Amino acid sequence: MHLKAAHSSKRGGKQAGQGGREQGAAVARRLGKVYPQALCSLDFTSPFQLLIATILSAQCTDKRVNVVTGGLFARWPTAAALAAAGQAEVEAVIRSTGFFRAKAKNIRGCCQALVERHGGEVPRTLEELVRLPGVGRKTANVVLGSGFGLPSGVVVDTHVGRISRRLGLTRHADAVKAERDLIAVIPKSHWIAFSHRLIEHGRAVCTARRPRCDDCPLTDLCSRVGVKPAIKKR
Ligand code: SF4
Repeated sequence: MHLKAAHSSKRGGKQAGQGGREQGAAVARRLGKVYPQALCSLDFTSPFQLLIATILSAQCTDKRVNVVTGGLFARWPTAAALAAAGQAEVEAVIRSTGFFRAKAKNIRGCCQALVERHGGEVPRTLEELVRLPGVGRKTANVVLGSGFGLPSGVVVDTHVGRISRRLGLTRHADAVKAERDLIAVIPKSHWIAFSHRLIEHGRAVCTARRPRCDDCPLTDLCSRVGVKPAIKKR
């Protein structure tokens, strides 16, 4: 089967045809072989910690978030404790993650909502999660997938979006539209791991500036949309 032919078919949710699903399944399987152990790179020991860490990870590296969350959860280990913390105190602890005022406000608001609406526990549905302050669809998918093991969707971050477009699995830059396309072509059993594996692939091989297509294990499955051919040195 020549998978590249799949790219001539229309993309986008309902229009994803058999070719798109075959390519999506082949990409998911190959990623599973190449990155079998890929996991969420945020440190957490509970869905609550993952929720807060994911809110902090906006516009920040996971590495930096991991440095901050150790101290944060030691001081405020539960939603009730963090809900009662002062804005300035939380800001001081999370400052290095950037946008610290808004993040502190969201974290405190989120924890207050967890206490008021959910007895201090993290809810297990997308609908309930996205109603929490500071929680969008991406954060909700991260928590449900990596925190609870529930495949609610495909997490689309900058790596997942970029590589999915290069592969031809979506043409959308908008994360919600890209996720809709990916859900249509990636088998549900792969939804959670697919994002972790693509993120690892994005860091190791298919980088934003210089994708290493010659060394890529997905090369026979990829249309390289928008990727300029490398200039060969003489
Ligand atoms: S072939 Fe190139 S563009 Fe396609 S996934 Fe691999 S590195 Fe990225």
